[in-house]
Amino acid sequence: MLIVQKYGGTSVANADRIKAVAERVAKAAKEGHKVVVVVSAMAGETDKLIGLANQISTNPGEREMDLLLSSGERITSALTAMAVEALGYKAIAFTGRQMGIITDAVHTKARIEKITGERARKALDENYVIVVAGFQGITGTDDVTTLGRGGSDLSAVAIASALNADLCEIYTDVDGVYTTDPNIAPEARKLEKISYEEMLELASLGAKVLQTRSVEFAMKYEVPVVVRSSFNDNPGTLVTREDKDMEKVVVSGVAYDKNQSKITVKTVPDKPGIAARLFKAIADANIVVDMIVQNISIGGNATDISFTVPKTDSKKTLALTEKIAGELEAKGVDLREDIAKISVVGVGMRTHSGVASQMFDTLAKHGINIMMISTSEIKVSCIIELKYTELAVRVLHEAFGLSQ
Ligand code: ASP
Ligand code: MG
Repeated sequence: MLIVQKYGGTSVANADRIKAVAERVAKAAKEGHKVVVVVSAMAGETDKLIGLANQISTNPGEREMDLLLSSGERITSALTAMAVEALGYKAIAFTGRQMGIITDAVHTKARIEKITGERARKALDENYVIVVAGFQGITGTDDVTTLGRGGSDLSAVAIASALNADLCEIYTDVDGVYTTDPNIAPEARKLEKISYEEMLELASLGAKVLQTRSVEFAMKYEVPVVVRSSFNDNPGTLVTREDKDMEKVVVSGVAYDKNQSKITVKTVPDKPGIAARLFKAIADANIVVDMIVQNISIGGNATDISFTVPKTDSKKTLALTEKIAGELEAKGVDLREDIAKISVVGVGMRTHSGVASQMFDTLAKHGINIMMISTSEIKVSCIIELKYTELAVRVLHEAFGLSQ
């Protein structure tokens, strides 16, 4: 088999852990598999580099930021290749560029356009273990890019797809994907398997095991992904295509996201083109809007629009929105950062009714007010006050019978 193994920051946090990773890689090679390893930077390294940049400049350039951040993964790729060599296996480390990972030029959140992988294919034929620095690529004009926080997951999935790997293993510090965060609800269970779609919802909802874009990519190209721990031999969770069994379960997981802010534009004219103008400006700034709620008009000619954006973009979005609100003669703009999004997810919702009402009822029973609601075919999300996050997770996990 050709296996891609990705190791996250905690799995390569120091020399001993890198040696342990090398043992696991060597074991797979010994069993006769071809192995491509993708590594993250050592735990905390990326944040440290960002902190350094912020000490130097209040507004560090994004091109230089990418060059800086890509160095974290280069360090671990070289060290991991050395560790594998030390165990008597041939190993070679590649940067994103040497792997032929070509991206667009949107610095700090670039998209992969293609992976040439010529050197990698040749090295695999010559029985090398390949160790790729995750999280990075190169533009057509030779600038280093990074793929967004958590982007090594995307590197791994995209490489697995490009090389037609049989399996993409994502090694992390948890045993797999859980019904919810076990730190909040200790009775949370590990799932044996989960569909791409559910995983996508859970990932984007803030269950931090896999980067959202990596799941989108895996779903599109049907890359079989296993999430498992690098600290033990437990089997992990398979992320795969939906099957009949999965539909029997109404709710598979409860997720929360504390990284959203809510912006409300008060009393804007209720006429064509207003939302288009506002959200175009936000999209043009590369800010991802999540939930949007527009009320029915008050007295027929004005309305409120509320929406959520990532907390990291809230100041930038507020400035943009205030500018447009001024032009539209709206009554003002409100920013609330003390909110959280809480969601229940399951492909079974397509064939079962009553999930939303049960969710609202459960929150109401515990005195938790709902500020915004959104639904899709397989999820119901509510914006609530930040301080109720843990309580909401626990009571919903219980109400949907996820503990058994
Ligand atoms: N080192 C990068 C980050 O911390 C990428 C990754 O770990 O996947 O976001
Ligand atoms: Mg990660």
